[in-house]
Amino acid sequence: MTSSLTPLPQSRHLATAIPGPRSQALHAERQAHVTDGFGIALPVFIDRADGGILQDVDGNRLIDFASGIAVTSIGASNPRVRERVAAQLERFTHTCFMVTEYESFTQVAMWLNEHTPGDFEKRTALFSTGAEAVENAVKIARSATGRSKVLVFDEAYHGRSLMTMAMTAKENPYRLNFGPFPTEVVRAASANPLRPAASATATTNDDGVPASGADVAAAALASVEATLAEYGAESFAAMVIEPIQGEGGFIVPAPGFLKGLREIATKHGIVLVIDEIQAGMGRTGTLFASEHEGIAGDMTLSAKALADGVPLSAVTGRADLMNAVHAGGLGGTYAGNPLACEAALAVFEAFEDGTLLANARAIEAAAREVLEPLVAETDVVAEFRGRGAMLALEFADRGTLEPRADLAKEISARCHAQGVLTLTCGTYGNVIRLLPPLVIGDELFRDGLAVLRQTIVDVAAGRDATATEAAAPALA
Ligand SMILES: *Cc1c(COP(=O)(O)O)cnc(C)c1O
Repeated sequence: MTSSLTPLPQSRHLATAIPGPRSQALHAERQAHVTDGFGIALPVFIDRADGGILQDVDGNRLIDFASGIAVTSIGASNPRVRERVAAQLERFTHTCFMVTEYESFTQVAMWLNEHTPGDFEKRTALFSTGAEAVENAVKIARSATGRSKVLVFDEAYHGRSLMTMAMTAKENPYRLNFGPFPTEVVRAASANPLRPAASATATTNDDGVPASGADVAAAALASVEATLAEYGAESFAAMVIEPIQGEGGFIVPAPGFLKGLREIATKHGIVLVIDEIQAGMGRTGTLFASEHEGIAGDMTLSAKALADGVPLSAVTGRADLMNAVHAGGLGGTYAGNPLACEAALAVFEAFEDGTLLANARAIEAAAREVLEPLVAETDVVAEFRGRGAMLALEFADRGTLEPRADLAKEISARCHAQGVLTLTCGTYGNVIRLLPPLVIGDELFRDGLAVLRQTIVDVAAGRDATATEAAAPALA
C-alpha cells in the first residue's frame, strides 16, 4: 500500500540528546496521568517506525534492537499489513467470533495448523494476548486429561495474568505483592548450560571434567522425572516450556533437553505445551523454534509477532485435545479480532518466499562475527548465545560467574544515548538481548552492532562515556 508519508531513512541520527526535550515533556505529562506500575526501558516517544528505525518526536532516529519485544518482525509499518488492515477497517472492525463468523479467522487457523510442528490433525483457537493463549492451553489440557497440575520450569516467563504469573519464575517485578497465586503449578529444573541448577547437576563429573551440555540435559531430565515422581506424574495435565527462554535470559536449553521432555510427556500422558510466543514466527530462523530441536508440542502457542503488533494469539494443538472442551467453554470478546486476523494473514504472506527466515540467519551470522569475540576479549562477557534474530550477551565475572547487572544496565544506557535501543533481561538482569526486526538492513544492523561492541569494550575497560554519550542526560 502506498503511504502518504515520505520513506523513513534507514540510518541512525541524533538530533538532540536522548531523550530529547519533547520526549521529556511528554514523559512528564504521562507521569501525571498514567500509573507508575508500568516500567520503561527508554522514555522516548515514538512518532514513526519502519524497517530497523524508530523515529522519535524530537527527530532522532534510533536503531531498533527490540521490535517492541519480538513483535514487529516484518517491520512496524509493513505495507502488506497496512493494506489488509485498512481494507478490513472499511468492511467491519468486529462481530465477535462467538456471535457471527468471518473467514479470516478460519484462514489463520488453517495456516497455523499446517505450519506448526507436528504431523497430526490439528485445530486452532485464537485469542488476543500471549497470557490468554497460555491460560487457555492449561484449560484445554485440564479438560482433555481430567488432571489438574501444570509443570513449569526455572527461568520461565509465561505472562502477567494470575495463572501465568504463577507459572513465571522471576519474583521481581512480575509476581511481587500480587499473590496468592493459583495452586497446582509445580516448577522443575531447566537445562541452563551456563548456570545448571544445583539440583540438576554437578558442574564437573566424577573425574573433575567440566560437565558437557549433554550432562546438563541428562541431569535436568533426571530432576524433572524426580519432580514428577514426587508430585505424582499421573496428576499432571500439562508441562509448559519455552523452546528458548525469553525474559529468563534467552537461554537455549542444553542439547537433548527438549527431546527428553517430549519423551517424558508422552510416557506419562502429559500434554506438552511449547510456548513459542517469543521464539516463534520466524524469529530464530525457522518458522517455529521447536524445529531446531526436531520436536513437536501437543500444543504450540503463538502471539507477539503473529500479527505484527495487532493483538492476536493462538493455541494450535492436536485435534482430539482441542476438541475435548465442551462447546462454549472457550472464547473471548476480542478473540481473533478481524483486524488482527488480516494482519496475521499479511505476516504469513511475508514469510512465504523464505527471505525473512534467511534474514534471521544472516542477522545471527553478523552478530556472531562482531560480538562473540568479546567472550575471549573481555573478562565480563560470559556468553554470546541465541538463534537467528533472538540473541543475547550475558555479563558476569570470569571464573566466578558473578552476575553483572550493573554492566548490562550501564552498557544499555550508553547504547540508548547513542541511538541504539537495546533491552536487558534475565533472572539477574545481567543479559542484553537483541531482537531486531527481520527486515533491518545489513548496514544499519552493523552500525548498531558496532556501537554495542565499542560500548561493551569501553565499559569492560572502565572507560568513561565518550563525548557523544556523555551529552545525553541521565535517564529517568
Ligand atoms: C510475552 C510472552 C508471553 C505473554 O504474552 P503477552 O502478550 O504479554 O500476554 C508468554 N510467553 C512468552 C514466552 C512470552 O515471551
